[in-house]
Amino acid sequence: MSVLIVGSIAIDSIKTQLEEHPNLLGGSASYGSIGASFFSPVNLVGIVGTDFPQQYVDLFKSRRVDLVGLEVIEGKTFRWAGEYEWDMNNRKTLHTELNVFEMFSPKLPAAYRSTPIILLGNINPGLQNHVLNQVENPRFIVADTMDLWITIARADLIALLKKIDLLALNDGEVRQLTEEPNLIKAGRKILELGPKYVAIKKGEHGCLLLSRDEFFSCGAYPLDDIYDPTGAGDTFAGAFSGYLASLEKEVFDFADLKKAVVYGSLLASFCVESFSLERLKNLSKKEIIDRYEWFKRASYFGEIEKLSGASGVWPTSSTVW
Ligand code: AMP
Repeated sequence: MSVLIVGSIAIDSIKTQLEEHPNLLGGSASYGSIGASFFSPVNLVGIVGTDFPQQYVDLFKSRRVDLVGLEVIEGKTFRWAGEYEWDMNNRKTLHTELNVFEMFSPKLPAAYRSTPIILLGNINPGLQNHVLNQVENPRFIVADTMDLWITIARADLIALLKKIDLLALNDGEVRQLTEEPNLIKAGRKILELGPKYVAIKKGEHGCLLLSRDEFFSCGAYPLDDIYDPTGAGDTFAGAFSGYLASLEKEVFDFADLKKAVVYGSLLASFCVESFSLERLKNLSKKEIIDRYEWFKRASYFGEIEKLSGASGVWPTSSTVW
């Protein structure tokens, strides 16, 4: 089963307190696609300019990301620059240059319309709604968003929430959307707006998954060094969606979603270990399985012997390596 991913494709410039890197591959769809590609094939819908470097196109191709839905038009690719404080939970946007992204009106190629799993990466919710008008019988729809859209496109976002299965957003965005400081109450308020599930990302403190009657708290992998948190949320959403697709099921239960959250968190933990997609680009299956096993043990507080035979079975034989 494939995942359809729609979102931004960008050239980023990232500054931390220690390093500065210009002209990196970025954008919600780029991180989402590479994150998902570890589990299932991806149909990518996005837009770039004629300046978009061939090496980035080659990276997508090497990861089984289908590019029929990638529009290349005369002009410059979307550019974004951000700077992190010492506390990397705090980031400010230094610069946004929409360029060809301003003309983005996602059109799904006919072959993409029946893709079973849909990930609406962070773009204007009006465009996310427009994508949903073109899909046929999706099995599970995940949407991401950001503070900007909560502020300037709230009505479109609220309309979107009625049509999706899961909204993934960070703790600050949850509080902004609901005007409720308590994350549990805020999560419930979001569920009342439509989605069956909400995933609340808390950066280095992990992630909460809520449905109307179930709850899961997933820790974060404890990293000594974080180089660049950009795209962690998009990678989470991509790996989450890719894992669900790899299950090849008609209907997903809460246990499936819990594992999807764990894989999302794990892939996000790799993402932040380098700038842009450098770490994900070179990630091996063994590294993912090792971290998954560690996670299972670290999260378990029953009788540890019961876990000793755990094999770290990979979700599907269709996984690409
Ligand atoms: P995240 O760290 O998950 O917030 O995602 C970071 C990515 O979002 C960067 O690679 C940017 O290129 C991209 N981005 C920044 N602003 C926007 C925007 N207004 N719309 C879509 N993508 C954006």
